[in-house]
Amino acid sequence: MRPRGPWESGKGGDVDDILKLHHDAIVCDLHVDTLQRIAKGESLMAHGGHLDLVRMQRGGIDLQFFALWPDPVYLPTQPGQRDRSYERTVALLDAFDGAMRAHPGQIAPVRTAAEARTVLQSGRIAAALGIEGGHAIENDIGKLEEMFRRGVRYMGLTWNNTTDWADAAKEETLHGTRHNGLTAFGEAVVRRMNELGMIVDLSHSAERPFWHVLRVSKTPVMASHSDVHAIAPHFRNLKDEQIRALAAKGGIIGINFYCAFVSAEFMHKQMAAEEARKTELDAIAAAHPYDFPVQSALERVVLQQEMGPVPVPAQLLIDHVEHIVRLVGPDHVALGTDFDGTSAIVDDIPDAGELPRFTRLLWERGFREPVIRKILGENVLRFFADVCG
Ligand SMILES: [Zn+2]
Repeated sequence: MRPRGPWESGKGGDVDDILKLHHDAIVCDLHVDTLQRIAKGESLMAHGGHLDLVRMQRGGIDLQFFALWPDPVYLPTQPGQRDRSYERTVALLDAFDGAMRAHPGQIAPVRTAAEARTVLQSGRIAAALGIEGGHAIENDIGKLEEMFRRGVRYMGLTWNNTTDWADAAKEETLHGTRHNGLTAFGEAVVRRMNELGMIVDLSHSAERPFWHVLRVSKTPVMASHSDVHAIAPHFRNLKDEQIRALAAKGGIIGINFYCAFVSAEFMHKQMAAEEARKTELDAIAAAHPYDFPVQSALERVVLQQEMGPVPVPAQLLIDHVEHIVRLVGPDHVALGTDFDGTSAIVDDIPDAGELPRFTRLLWERGFREPVIRKILGENVLRFFADVCG
């Protein structure tokens, strides 16, 4: 018998009870890249990726945050070239608005937790927006404000690329720090986000800006889609002291379903495969620079050939959840699946339609109702209300 955890309470249940609990609970997901597909003209109702309306309904998703990610290919590569990052971000936002107009009976955009609850009461899915990558605002607070005006409620300060004002985890790992955290402009961005009521997202940020933001930000902050470094030592995952600090500030961490962040074995094998097949992977990226869904699917084929089968059972996700709960209690862990942002998703939850399995796995690990509801969505709603109203 496993030792009883402090989260274990409430009554027992069979498989039907667990499914009922999942669909009765409010389920929130902090991060998907589905707009990369919608902007290509695919339908939000059904497409070949991980998350669409059909599978959101089957998976019981109630509040979904959609990421606006301007691929760094839109950044200028030589002097004199125009930065198209903001233009791309606006195009993704336009695609989101179009999808909301196309399916008014199924889904509706929200800007606050209160609006989300109203939409949920009408039987529809609530949809919110976040930016992934601070280069989206092109060093212009006015563009940040315009994004807020159009409904964006979080911004990840960086993606894998270091911006002119904040260090990224990947770039710092490969090339070292450029700003030693945030520049003065970076601090001004965080302060303005605080004033507006916009969530600061620290997934993808390096450690120095992480600690810098925790000092500067007046409101709780989050890591929308990161896992536990103590389990898989990836630069995208959070160390225990970071998890403690986020929690102490009232923040949350969205559990990412990407195999390389979930499993240390997968991570090491993939890093070796990326090294071994670098030429081919670079050629794929060069051949499909503006088509992330196609690019990532083709890359997966090459990596899979090189890696062979590496099982990543979904119950490993619960190891990450349990680690965070044991460290800081049940109020700071959430979902940040990264659906449609990666082609290597844990084995038994291959898309949004299979999310009820996550609840079953929580149950099998010994989690019970009040805590399961927090993890599935109540933590996100509390946090969303704290920062955005
Ligand atoms: Zn990401």
